[in-house]
Amino acid sequence: MKRVNRPAKPAYLARNEARLLERLNELCEERNGHGSDLEKKIKRAEQKYNHRSVKEALNTMYRELCCYCECTASTDGFSAIEHRKPRRDFPELTFDWQNLHLSCTPCNGAKADQWNEKHPILDAAADKVDDHLTYDDDDYTILVPRNRSMRGDTTIVHAKLNRPRLKAARREIAHEFLNTLTKIRKLSGDPKVRAKVEKIDEMVAGPLGSLVSYLRDVHLSDEVLPS
Ligand SMILES: [Zn+2]
Repeated sequence: MKRVNRPAKPAYLARNEARLLERLNELCEERNGHGSDLEKKIKRAEQKYNHRSVKEALNTMYRELCCYCECTASTDGFSAIEHRKPRRDFPELTFDWQNLHLSCTPCNGAKADQWNEKHPILDAAADKVDDHLTYDDDDYTILVPRNRSMRGDTTIVHAKLNRPRLKAARREIAHEFLNTLTKIRKLSGDPKVRAKVEKIDEMVAGPLGSLVSYLRDVHLSDEVLPS
């Protein structure tokens, strides 16, 4: 998980948020005593957060990476708008821009409606993620809470951030990092080293970037990096 900056609320939400929520509330109030027709209407009213412009804003904000696992959110051709505070318990936040994130299908499915009020799952756009999460010093494929952070723990557990496929993806990206590191060390003093260092900067901004950043801190000393 990596910290991101949240841009301004998309115009669609700014314009319609209050009206959409009002409509949803009206329908929910009517719910008692009515049949499946109304349920369908409620479902449709709820889904109005899923607007193209909202998705685009979240894709830009997260560089199309999942807010929890940092994998490409649409690897399987589908990414979801994630309600950090679940709609089931916080229906009033269905269209709330601050509550909307981007997640991959496995993270979205794992987290589902879970919510820990005392130690809530981290918010990549509001929390200092690095204060709560790091990687295991003995096995960099394992994400661990930093300084026993309970919120870090909730995040790992709710989004299942040590699932086998994720660990395999971390191993792969670490391998790529270590290969680049070997080249950087061989090129020490050569101007070509700069391109390799830039490649690592790109990797930090890309999929599983928080692991690359962790490995860079562990392995790349200032003397190797040209200023
Ligand atoms: Zn994910």
